[in-house]
Amino acid sequence: MTHSIVLPRLIRTGSGALGQLPDVLTACGVKRPLIVTDATMVALGYLVRLAQGLAQAGIKFGLFDATEPEPTETSVLVAEAILRAGLDGQAFDGLVALGGGSAIDTAKALAVLGPHGGRMRDYKVPRIVDEPALPVIAIPTTAGTGSEATRVTVITDPDNDEKMLCMGLAFMPVAAILDPDLTLSLPPRVTADTGIDALTHAIEAYVSRKASPFSDQQALAAMRLIAPNLRRAFHDGEDRQAREALLIGACFGGIAFSNASVALVHGMSRPIGAFFHVPHGLSNAMLLPAVTAWSIPSATRRYADCARAMGVVGDGVSDEIANTALLDELRALNAELGVPTPAGFGIQPERWQQLRPLMAEQALASGSPGNNPRIPTHDEIIALYDEVWG
Ligand code: NAD
Repeated sequence: MTHSIVLPRLIRTGSGALGQLPDVLTACGVKRPLIVTDATMVALGYLVRLAQGLAQAGIKFGLFDATEPEPTETSVLVAEAILRAGLDGQAFDGLVALGGGSAIDTAKALAVLGPHGGRMRDYKVPRIVDEPALPVIAIPTTAGTGSEATRVTVITDPDNDEKMLCMGLAFMPVAAILDPDLTLSLPPRVTADTGIDALTHAIEAYVSRKASPFSDQQALAAMRLIAPNLRRAFHDGEDRQAREALLIGACFGGIAFSNASVALVHGMSRPIGAFFHVPHGLSNAMLLPAVTAWSIPSATRRYADCARAMGVVGDGVSDEIANTALLDELRALNAELGVPTPAGFGIQPERWQQLRPLMAEQALASGSPGNNPRIPTHDEIIALYDEVWG
């Protein structure tokens, strides 16, 4: 089996790294960027900071500040019109995404729609989009998706509520700026949801059938950084050490899954997000303990390694004890971080019941369940949806 490893060309990290954006743009040959962000970044003053840096460096830019959380194609098409209009009669030559995964994914979609046109559904899996695209410089403000270092974007089709997974070289940002100061403002709920998303990326990449020695190291490093720091950042948002560890850990998790794929949790999670508007990390969290318990028999050693990397058991402990400790920890984490069940989230039982077969179909169609150590049938996915319900 061969593996293809794809990474951003440049990653700048550390407190204050946002100030290096003009340098990074120059290094990437971008002279007229379109900034893609959302209303929260404007309200928090992050956009002003970014804009001041660009103005001082004499770099003109355009702005799309209406990214929606868990973006649909509808909002992407509004941004596409701004991209096509250009700046002072010249085309934009790159994109800067400032925000969480939603802003970064919107910018990645634009990077492909700009030069190639069409609709987002033209680019969803199983197509692999390796064509040249506009360069994206990603500045994540959540510590979760790792989108700043993945060859993936997720855009919802407004016609059928499908969360479309789009993959390929075209979606890999050329550069990422990881400034933990930007994550200090994350509320506890978003900290929890995005942190569990990152942990899920790392675990799924490590147990994936497409794992490689490269992705294994990134995944284990991500678990070591995320597991001991998630509760800290959730309870004390100002804990700078925890925030920095989570941001780097999330990026490692992104690199891991982008090069090894996610698996059953993500496959089942996307339809929950699309149909019931559950934030992505939260729907992952609802599924993670049950799907892990169901999958463990097919990869006992790998899941035991996860428990060891997360620090819930020592190195000398047997795989069996480590597997039990991993499940205990995932359940305890959900309880402490206030993760509800789908019922507790307020989803209508009839609608959940009715949509399970379609959700299972969409999960399988995304290809992610096929990377799971234990590959489910359509009926087994429905049974897992039943199990996590209440
Ligand atoms: P998000 O970008 O939707 O942000 C969640 C909320 O937090 C938003 O309201 C946002 O404005 C706010 N927010 C963001 N940063 C903040 C900050 N520093 N302070 C205060 N508020 C802040 O959330 P996300 O979890 O980062 O991204 C979710 C999206 O990413 C989903 O659409 C998911 O499917 C996708 N995703 C993509 C990948 C990928 O590789 N491309 C991987 C996983 C998930």
